[in-house]
Amino acid sequence: MQKIKIAEKQFEIFLENETINKRIRLIGVQLNLAYEDKCPLFIGILNGSFLFMADLIKEITIPCEVAFMRVASYDGASSSGQVKELIGLPPNISGRDIIVIEDIVDTGLTLTHILKTIKALKPASVKVASLLLKPSALKYQIEDLEYVGFEIPNEFVVGYGLDYNGLGRNLIDIYSATEG
Ligand code: 5GP
Repeated sequence: MQKIKIAEKQFEIFLENETINKRIRLIGVQLNLAYEDKCPLFIGILNGSFLFMADLIKEITIPCEVAFMRVASYDGASSSGQVKELIGLPPNISGRDIIVIEDIVDTGLTLTHILKTIKALKPASVKVASLLLKPSALKYQIEDLEYVGFEIPNEFVVGYGLDYNGLGRNLIDIYSATEG
């Protein structure tokens, strides 16, 4: 079992790059079919989605546009304790077919907020493609989560765009934290 250490934390290999890429190719096929006569706007949520977006978009053969935005979280007086602000929302959302590209859905809070904001701008349709989903951590049901790469256990993962304390985004495989 391949193990690595990032900032004194132990991780072991969980999903190899080849497995990730095979799955992404299949999602690409599905998207090319589903959006055959359309010109969707892919919106990647930074930072975590940049490698997933890069590999997925290479599989897309229909006309499309690509944009990125980020979510800034800060403590504030809201029911969840955190206020999320969307930065860099693309200007041309109205009337478009939007595909939101996420790295991982954990509780679903981030995505719920993103979808609410995007839908207020009156797109023609909105779907989400997330590379990873932790079903047992989900607290907010997300109907628009149409494309999921892998359902994973409720463990902390790193690599392929995902970080641990800012490190590990460059790893081509995905690793999960080991006990202790
Ligand atoms: P949610 O709002 O769904 O609870 O959290 C989503 C965000 O939390 C993701 O976009 C990601 O930034 C972060 N996150 C959740 N689980 C993990 C994980 O296992 N590893 C890493 N690196 N980030 C995670």
